[in-house]
Amino acid sequence: MKIIVSVSDMHKQADRLRREGKIIGFVPTMGYLHEGHLSLIREAKKHSDIIVMSIFVNPTQFGPGEDFKDYPRDFDRDAMLAESAGCDIIFHPNVQEIYPENHKTYVEVEQITKVLCGASRPTHFRGVTTIVAKLFNIIKPHVAVFGQKDAQQAIVIKRMVQDLNFDLKILVAPIMREPDGLAMSSRNIYLTPEQRKEAAILYQSLMQAKQMIEQGERNADQIKAQIRSMIEQQPDAKIDYIEIVDTTNLNPVQQLEGEVLIALAVKIGKPRLIDNVFVRI
Ligand code: AMP
Repeated sequence: MKIIVSVSDMHKQADRLRREGKIIGFVPTMGYLHEGHLSLIREAKKHSDIIVMSIFVNPTQFGPGEDFKDYPRDFDRDAMLAESAGCDIIFHPNVQEIYPENHKTYVEVEQITKVLCGASRPTHFRGVTTIVAKLFNIIKPHVAVFGQKDAQQAIVIKRMVQDLNFDLKILVAPIMREPDGLAMSSRNIYLTPEQRKEAAILYQSLMQAKQMIEQGERNADQIKAQIRSMIEQQPDAKIDYIEIVDTTNLNPVQQLEGEVLIALAVKIGKPRLIDNVFVRI
């Protein structure tokens, strides 16, 4: 497995692979890898010849007071895990390489970035779309794989790819979970043992919502109220949002029909955790 740290070396490598007719699969991450990230490598391998994973904690997607400085990092462990999952190249630039002093250009997707996570993190998606657009230009992938864990992010990236005519395919892979249902996340290490137990309620509440829908409930307020009451029973949980939205423009729905996304964000102690489920009626 190669480790590349400069944009120019990555460009050369991508050009060489493309000249050789290789299909480049790309998995963007911020590192501190877990099974969720590795599942994206495995998914990418089904569709490409060479897998490039980026490991870059992107400062522009963190707001003031968020955890950019403390975000967990362990590159040596990440490199070992990525290689064992079949990664061929890790792109691991430093912040200066990606955002030199005179960097002035940002990519912004409108409307769908202002709701859900965008409502409480107003500059987050601008940072995400900017880094992902830059990484697409640097790595020149044919296929890029994102996790359903960040459902809004995947929807925003797909919108950007269509709107800016990027010539690549976006795939979205399922959420990998711990045995009790908690969605894997690099930020789960912030949870105390007590909070870690409480955190299982997020998935349980989504499953309860799904069951209500299966039993015929179509009123979004009723379903959201049930989720809220389950989460509020946890002493350390502070709800950021619980929403039921349509899956293209992320508008809230009142009466469920077609495909909807039930998404939530809850702070449990230090970390803000997100989870979601898609439901087809
Ligand atoms: P991150 O390193 O948190 O920025 O995540 C990098 C990619 O991994 C994103 O596309 C995430 O959606 C995806 N990802 C994170 N956690 C999971 C998970 N539990 N299951 C599947 N994909 C995940």
